[in-house]
Amino acid sequence: MEKVDITVIGAGVIGLAVSYLFSDLGKEIMVIEKNRSFGQETSSRNSEVIHAGIYYPKGSLKSETCIRGGRLLYEFCEKNKIAYKKLGKLIVANETGGISKLETIYKNAGECGVEGLQFLAKSEIRKLEPDVRCEKAIFSPETGIFDTHSFLEFLYKKSKERKVNFAFSVEVIGIERKGGEYKITVSEPHKEKFSFMTECVINAAGLFSDKIAELAGIDADKYSYRINYCKGQYFRIRDPKKFKVHHLIYPPPSEIDLGIHVTPDLAGGLRLGPDAEYVEAIDYNINEKDKNKFLNSLQKFLPNLELNDIIPDTAGIRPKLQSEKESFRDFVISEESTKGFPNFINLIGIESPGLTSALAIAERVKQIWSNIR
Ligand SMILES: Cc1cc2nc3c(=O)[nH]c(=O)nc-3n(C[C@H](O)[C@H](O)[C@H](O)COP(=O)(O)OP(=O)(O)OC[C@H]3O[C@@H](n4cnc5c(N)ncnc54)[C@H](O)[C@@H]3O)c2cc1C
Repeated sequence: MEKVDITVIGAGVIGLAVSYLFSDLGKEIMVIEKNRSFGQETSSRNSEVIHAGIYYPKGSLKSETCIRGGRLLYEFCEKNKIAYKKLGKLIVANETGGISKLETIYKNAGECGVEGLQFLAKSEIRKLEPDVRCEKAIFSPETGIFDTHSFLEFLYKKSKERKVNFAFSVEVIGIERKGGEYKITVSEPHKEKFSFMTECVINAAGLFSDKIAELAGIDADKYSYRINYCKGQYFRIRDPKKFKVHHLIYPPPSEIDLGIHVTPDLAGGLRLGPDAEYVEAIDYNINEKDKNKFLNSLQKFLPNLELNDIIPDTAGIRPKLQSEKESFRDFVISEESTKGFPNFINLIGIESPGLTSALAIAERVKQIWSNIR
């Protein structure tokens, strides 16, 4: 039976960042992806924001990988000529509840080591953003946007140049522990089955990462690895020139998401959203009726916005460990020897800020891998 050293399941941003960082090890690496190309799921259905790491609890993986990952990502984009803009972000509040949330956010960010945050008064906000109405705001200078597709393409092309193998339209359907290694069974494009052996498995399967863990025999419910789907819809502004918005504008976050926000994109457009709703199945349709919800939410700080300004855009699904009833859950980045699965590395629940964190997550995976050698 054929054998490779390392198998990465999934060619989203996490699988690609891992394959890129591992590609200098001189190991035989195989990336398996069920879609026809890389980055067809959550990695191309998001806000493309480089987050500063403001909201996550101190010491959490989300906090640490976001802060480090953001720095790495800006350097990476600069070095490799990937388009980005460090636009800065305003978290705006109007009512007392919102303002006290801003204070909690500011304190947490400072404790986590996020640099450069400032409170702005109404008059300062008016100068920066004449169309935005609010009483108080936090300004985050380190938040930005970037060209995700070019980033993914760069990681893919460089990995390939460095001899990483990619198998597209190939789905992992079986994982069996055998003689200290893993037998991976895949279904190929014409549904033929094929199996090979591997020493190490890296599960970067996004929305299906709980299912991949289960294929190997890891009990997803026992270890709280079950993924919940939380859909986020986007609308956009029909005529972006009608509004002067220069920064990313966010309301204070809720328990499950960052709130419906306005994001200028690299092409000069203005994206609205995402909203957040737990769903049973993956579908990327936009419910046009939700325009009203978007309008009500956004008019609180963009009072001149009208229903007719809003047109449907795209949607993404967050792979959330946190169920509707739970509060914060962190990323899972775990080598599973203690569960009886040595050399099996699970990356589960990689929701936002996963894009920002990708290079830092891959660094951690490489560190884990070298520790188990
Ligand atoms: C609405 C929304 C907005 C977001 N905004 C931001 C943002 O602005 N900034 C930020 O930092 N993060 C953001 N995120 C989070 C970010 O997009 C994700 O954390 C990141 O894209 C996850 O990447 P991934 O590689 O883990 O998953 P994916 O991109 O989903 O990749 C997983 C891959 O695994 C493949 N796969 C699954 N099962 C199998 C199998 N059995 N065999 C073979 N292949 C398989 C899938 O086909 C898929 O291509 C957002 C997410 C959402 C949903």
